[in-house]
Amino acid sequence: MDDEKSYRVLLFYKYVTIDNPQDFAQEHLTFCKSLALKGRILVAKEGLNGTLSGTQEQTQIYMDTLHRDPRFSGMVFKTDSADGHAFTKMNVRARKEIVAFKLKNDIDPHQMTGKHLKPKAFHDAMQEENAILIDARNNYETQIGHFRHAILPDVKTFRDLPDWIEKNLADCKDKKVLTYCTGGIRCEKFSGYLLKAGFKDVSQLDGGIVEYGKDPEVKGELYDGKCYVFDKRISVPVNRTDEDVIVGHCHRCGKPCDRIVNCANPECNKQYICCENCEKKYHRSCSATCRSHPRNRYNLQLARRGRETAKV
Ligand SMILES: [Zn+2]
Ligand SMILES: [Zn+2]
Repeated sequence: MDDEKSYRVLLFYKYVTIDNPQDFAQEHLTFCKSLALKGRILVAKEGLNGTLSGTQEQTQIYMDTLHRDPRFSGMVFKTDSADGHAFTKMNVRARKEIVAFKLKNDIDPHQMTGKHLKPKAFHDAMQEENAILIDARNNYETQIGHFRHAILPDVKTFRDLPDWIEKNLADCKDKKVLTYCTGGIRCEKFSGYLLKAGFKDVSQLDGGIVEYGKDPEVKGELYDGKCYVFDKRISVPVNRTDEDVIVGHCHRCGKPCDRIVNCANPECNKQYICCENCEKKYHRSCSATCRSHPRNRYNLQLARRGRETAKV
């Protein structure tokens, strides 16, 4: 792994009982701030879910400290080296769930979850004839990359997934089902939900797309495009074989593109795919209304630059 860069981004979760999430969140925030880490952590009675950035040293202290706590002794940290922070703030919040699935009857992954497959086993299982592959992420994530031939549910949030499955895949309950998500946390519950809904043979990708891309044997093979991530980087590469596929199209001109930008209208902020030409042409705005918004960041920046040039 590339460890020459001075920063690191961590991704981690664990389903484990945390008795008082509110208190835990407060103490944990103080601890993270004392290490000068930045990122987002969710705490619930059911566990911990987070992503952080910091220097190699700060993140090492964080991981070592958590591993000394018996509740988190076996927690897996997915790490990526980086040039700087991937976040601007540090938040630790207590929630009902560490991923919002909001089922009427919640799933406890300790009671019910699909089989965990390591990258190589998942890679081979994907190619079996009776297998179907379900992407457990949202539509804005899958638009820039996904496993080849995966079913991509058109949902905006994880909560909408069960309804979508009932409507679209109710007749697939005898198939061999494989699920995957970014780091594995959503599949812990989603695969449990599928079993409960009557799917007979359900497996999930252990460690998610992130680990799959790092596995020295599979090297991200059969994954097309990039993996969406919830930090400043927006996306990371997965496939390290010579299969080079661009998934996605510029929202404006339609040419193949996987560049995600934030709409320059601060009230919209929509993330959409946009090529460099169209970003300039349309002032990084997703619509005409956004382009003419009085606080449009792109327009303000142009105006500022104009004034500076005038002074010279
Ligand atoms: Zn374009
Ligand atoms: Zn917009």
